[in-house]
Amino acid sequence: MLSRGIQKVATQLQDKEFSAVELCSKCVQRARKLKVLNAYVTETHEIALQQAKESDKRHSQGNTHGILDGVPITVKDNFCTQNIRTTCASNMLKNYIPPYTATVVQRMLDQGALLIGKTNLDEFAMGSGSIDSTHGPVRNPWKYPYQASAVTSGTDNDTPISSHVRQSESHVTEPAESEWFVAGGSSGGSAVAVATGSAFAAFGSDTGGSVRNPASYCGVVGLKPTYGLCSRHGLIPLVNSLDVPGVFGRYVDDVAIVLGAIGGHDVFDSTTVNDPFTAEILPDHISVKDLHIGIPKEYYAPSLSSEVFQAWQKAADIFDNAGAKVTEVSLPHTQYSIVCYSVLCATEVASNMARYDGIEFGHRANENRYLEALFSKTRHEGFNDVVRGRILAGNYFLLKGKYEKYYIQAQKVRRLISDDFKKVFDSGVNILLTPTTISEAPSYTDFASVDHRKQSEQQDVLTQPVNLAGLPAVNVPACLSSTGLPVGLQFIAPMFQDRHMLTVAKWFEQQVNFPISDLCCQIDRDVPDS
Ligand code: GLN
Repeated sequence: MLSRGIQKVATQLQDKEFSAVELCSKCVQRARKLKVLNAYVTETHEIALQQAKESDKRHSQGNTHGILDGVPITVKDNFCTQNIRTTCASNMLKNYIPPYTATVVQRMLDQGALLIGKTNLDEFAMGSGSIDSTHGPVRNPWKYPYQASAVTSGTDNDTPISSHVRQSESHVTEPAESEWFVAGGSSGGSAVAVATGSAFAAFGSDTGGSVRNPASYCGVVGLKPTYGLCSRHGLIPLVNSLDVPGVFGRYVDDVAIVLGAIGGHDVFDSTTVNDPFTAEILPDHISVKDLHIGIPKEYYAPSLSSEVFQAWQKAADIFDNAGAKVTEVSLPHTQYSIVCYSVLCATEVASNMARYDGIEFGHRANENRYLEALFSKTRHEGFNDVVRGRILAGNYFLLKGKYEKYYIQAQKVRRLISDDFKKVFDSGVNILLTPTTISEAPSYTDFASVDHRKQSEQQDVLTQPVNLAGLPAVNVPACLSSTGLPVGLQFIAPMFQDRHMLTVAKWFEQQVNFPISDLCCQIDRDVPDS
């Protein structure tokens, strides 16, 4: 039941093969059984069960809200959810309860989706491993030594956040650090929830790769839509000019269904486009004969692992053999995207984070000598080193005398990076095919041994240029490496060609047949019910 696609599950709910309450209970059970992976920050199981009862009522009366009615989903903990704690994995917001719900989440709820929890992330979505969270690191479900770790239910001792919501805490014997792999980030919790079957879809946010990176490491589909297609209202900002709400699913079809439910103009977000957006499910029979696939030579990064390279090469051959035109293309300014992103990210972070002053919302330090002391103590206690470092760097880049040299220069480079893509697409290329990450998921020990800034340079090199250009991109799992870890590939399309890109991604998915359901089977077999 838990490894099926949304369309199948919707039909089964419709045919009353099982109820939404039964489906929801299964997902809740799965989340409880896998507390050791630390994917969830807050469980909203009671809310979900209540929503499931209402969905069942609609099903029995024959007036459902559509394909998502009764389908369990989960949401990264940087999307506001009314009356449900939203922490951004930061001490600053550890008790923040928003008064409203993010538009994309609300649109899902309006269509009958069930919210089963809020998922773990890097603090304020800054990171690429989901290890920098006040709630502790997220663990990759692939190759996790389930049998070596005693899993016990933590529900009884959980701290209630409101009458319907519980803080998720793992009460487990943790395996040695070297025994598990990172989930990727910063939306690692959402990727893990979907990969392991506790939700059929999940929201993440993607500023420089935070949906595609964990999707690649966890073997799921991860979509970064075109900037402006989906509302950012209620998504707590990292970099307003780069952030987009992203979608995780086990199958391309599922991601397309969610995009159909959330896309389109929102009066609360003036950067969403006005053009009408129609949700259509993807075709089953797809031809790639008239397709022109571009292979950007700059994505052949020196640090690319041989297995990722082979998967990329094999994918290009699959398209070639099916009659698509596959050619090498060049995106010469890609090499500058990391430095350009670092400047733009830090400057916007410096502005965005100014709101956390201990007065309006969030943490307030116990300091009453004078106002500046309150600000600085609050911000020191509330933010981790990474956030503080970016605020400092950003304020430096924005200084009079530095602004032209850094911020304005970075904006110019951003334009060059974006123009590279435009030129390639204008030359007749329909879709670009690249790796998503330079390797399969690193072990926690290896990942944690590299300084955060260096880590971002390595992790985001293949994903960030897309954000700078505002384009849609999607990670699709391609294969398992010889060590049994997922390898993902990225498709990139011109602005607002999201649906066409997903159609091509679905065709590729049909060719490779990635064994995502094996993971669910392994969990069923190896992890005892809690
Ligand atoms: N790793 C990048 C960063 O830390 C991207 C994060 C994201 O996409 N949210 O900024």
